[in-house]
Amino acid sequence: MEFEDMFKTEQDCIDYLTSIRWPQGFECPTCGSVRSWEKSKKRFECIDCHTETTVTAGTIFHKSTKPLRVWFQAIWWIVAQKNGVSAKGLMKVLGLGSISLDG
Ligand SMILES: [Zn+2]
Repeated sequence: MEFEDMFKTEQDCIDYLTSIRWPQGFECPTCGSVRSWEKSKKRFECIDCHTETTVTAGTIFHKSTKPLRVWFQAIWWIVAQKNGVSAKGLMKVLGLGSISLDG
């Protein structure tokens, strides 16, 4: 598994984050609805209650102005040093085990 193969573009990073955040597809943090529309690449709006959620909300990337890809590359390197890269290890470092939706 190589970084350059998995995350060629910023969109690849967004897709990856989306897939581990909502493995079953979008779920509204406010009302639990699964119906949404994609306002922009990272931003979803719930069709039922109009709550807007970004895929990075509550993660270490939320306030970042750097491209996700820069973060992913740094994190990838750190994970690789410790125990080799695995999807699970990556998830752990991304802080997705304890998401808070306050931000
Ligand atoms: Zn909702």
